[in-house]
Amino acid sequence: MTELSALSAVPSGVRNAVLKFYFGPMDCGKSTLALQMNYNHGRQGRRGLVLTKHDRSGQPKLTSRIGLGLEAIEVHDGLDLVDLVTTQHRIDYLICDEACFYTVPQIEQLADLVDEHGIDVYAFGLASDFRSVMFPAAQRLFELADEVCRLQVEVLCWCGRPGLLNARIVGGELVRTGEQVMIGDTDASPVRYQVLCRRHHRAGLLGEGT
Ligand SMILES: [Zn+2]
Repeated sequence: MTELSALSAVPSGVRNAVLKFYFGPMDCGKSTLALQMNYNHGRQGRRGLVLTKHDRSGQPKLTSRIGLGLEAIEVHDGLDLVDLVTTQHRIDYLICDEACFYTVPQIEQLADLVDEHGIDVYAFGLASDFRSVMFPAAQRLFELADEVCRLQVEVLCWCGRPGLLNARIVGGELVRTGEQVMIGDTDASPVRYQVLCRRHHRAGLLGEGT
């Protein structure tokens, strides 16, 4: 008689898909890694979809600051990600850039895709907003992901310490109140963002010449 226990072997033929969340401040190379990961999986003959939201290009595209780019599906708030994926022919994985801006139900849908449909989900995004408060979608990813990885690709505060937190700057001043999501760093926007170490984010010090 077979007894199920925590040590029981996984039934053959069942491969556990994974939900992974890669997080870090702006400019830490999240989108570049997302593009690289899509390329690597594609080369192995796997079929994937690339999703994004509020990409810096302002288009449904995944672009990285170092100049790579790829067409992507824009995740608007009403989009059901399970519907999106299951109506396509054979999807093996999803690359979800800017996942911090998805809705919490959409993060649940990602978990459903992993558990019910065997699709690997690689999510990328910021953990916290300009106040250093976690985005709801990022929090849900922390709670649900199989694996969470902090990315630190040499993004430094002006003082040389690792840059951990995003500051929102309006009219040269660091602000701590306002909408959680506000697009910045475009010609049309008075808002810009700067990555600071924890010490200088908390102190509100932007450094010389900024
Ligand atoms: Zn600093």
